[in-house]
Amino acid sequence: MTEVDKCVACSGPMEHKYVPMEKWGLKGFLCGKCYSKKISEHYPGTHGRVNLDK
Ligand SMILES: [Zn+2]
Repeated sequence: MTEVDKCVACSGPMEHKYVPMEKWGLKGFLCGKCYSKKISEHYPGTHGRVNLDK
């Protein structure tokens, strides 16, 4: 097997696979970094260190 799972957002290798929420409209898995990023984008304020000036 040579198939390597890649993050759908950054195409980077994933140490751990994170399943994106359906509402994010992503097919595949996210790496931890992109997952946290998505979480903070979609749920600002719920994860402490969010820094969005909007
Ligand atoms: Zn990623």
